[in-house]
Amino acid sequence: MQSTLFTNVRILDGTGAMPYAGSVLVQGNRIRTVGRSSAALSPAGAAVIDGAGATLMPGMCEAHTHFSWNDSATLAGIQTMPLEEHVLWCAKIAKRYLEAGWTSCVGAACAKPRLDVVTRNAINSGQIPGPRYLAASQEITVVGGLGDETLPHLPFPEFSFGVNVNSADEMRTAVRLFLKYGVDSIKLNLSGDNFTQDSPAETTWMSDAEVAAAMDEVRIRGKRGTSHARSAASVKQSLRHGIDVIYHASYSDSESLDMLEAAKDRVFVAPGIAIILAMLYEAEPWGITHAKAVQMGYMHEWEAAQESLRAMHKRGIRILPGGDYGFAMTPHCQNARDLEFFVKYLGMTPMEAIRSATLYGGQIMMKPDELGIIKDGFLADLLLVDGDPLANLSILRDPKRILAVMKDGVFAKSPDIVSQRRWEHAA
Ligand SMILES: [Zn+2]
Repeated sequence: MQSTLFTNVRILDGTGAMPYAGSVLVQGNRIRTVGRSSAALSPAGAAVIDGAGATLMPGMCEAHTHFSWNDSATLAGIQTMPLEEHVLWCAKIAKRYLEAGWTSCVGAACAKPRLDVVTRNAINSGQIPGPRYLAASQEITVVGGLGDETLPHLPFPEFSFGVNVNSADEMRTAVRLFLKYGVDSIKLNLSGDNFTQDSPAETTWMSDAEVAAAMDEVRIRGKRGTSHARSAASVKQSLRHGIDVIYHASYSDSESLDMLEAAKDRVFVAPGIAIILAMLYEAEPWGITHAKAVQMGYMHEWEAAQESLRAMHKRGIRILPGGDYGFAMTPHCQNARDLEFFVKYLGMTPMEAIRSATLYGGQIMMKPDELGIIKDGFLADLLLVDGDPLANLSILRDPKRILAVMKDGVFAKSPDIVSQRRWEHAA
């Protein structure tokens, strides 16, 4: 069994405890022992990695991932990428996420029916490198809703960007098809979105009968429902129907907050706020000036979202990083910006932000007892980081500062770079 001993590291274990100097022994794919000194670890035959004071922390989890978003500025730009190129794109992006320190990702919808499933299967069978991955369906929407990218003058196709349903029966058909493909979750677009002006963020168009049909099938197969839910009504609809993962949750009222709090041991909220900020302040190269974004409703939503998410955080509702990276204005692998946003706008401490990417990550990946923190017996998903993320969260999105990435006991980004770097510093 292959063993690796990290010595001389600052252990930031993901639980919320303050970092401490110590050593971590990995055997096979698990953390065997965490200790304050390496002497006690007796690492017979282990490869020794001298961290030279670098931070060792759990691999991070992206809670709202779209590998198949291809850095376009529009949904149509994603949808029209030919299938063959799209498969290769997903493989490339999966590798990049892993090397950037995202050792787990929760798929939150893909752009063609089987892109997520095929990517997950290729990762799990060792064909391509990538994070632990939960594969999503396409977005399921109602006609005219977010994700309906069919053109009015063309015949109604079976698949557009999202899958359009018009009844509980059509919902059941769509959900069963994705379950047949092997998805881990079914994504329902319960609210609209300011990205699509004909179905803005505060609209809530899917019927309860349609959501109930979807969740009935999801439960029968032991899978999970996730929702695009920006409006307060769609958050409540998610909770009424047993959806575990709620994306966005920008708008709230006291009833939705009470319902979220009552379900806080079951529910995860991944707001994906980067896209709102990017639309407001960083999207001018793609024709969206600040004034245009305000007119589209983004400022109204941003103000509501800060208030809603701060209230959720105060009530102990789990808020996780990630979401809607993969557009031109939110390029892939800048995802750790979310941790900075959580501190700056939602009232989290840096430690709480780290915990949202690690401890909560293991929980949303459905492995709460073996993933997400540095602890004896847990899966060996680890990052070696140059510096102190608690003092400066932005180092987590700087590839030069991510010195090594280990997933399942194997290096995805080699620590050889560390030795070389240390040697260069010494020279
Ligand atoms: Zn999304």
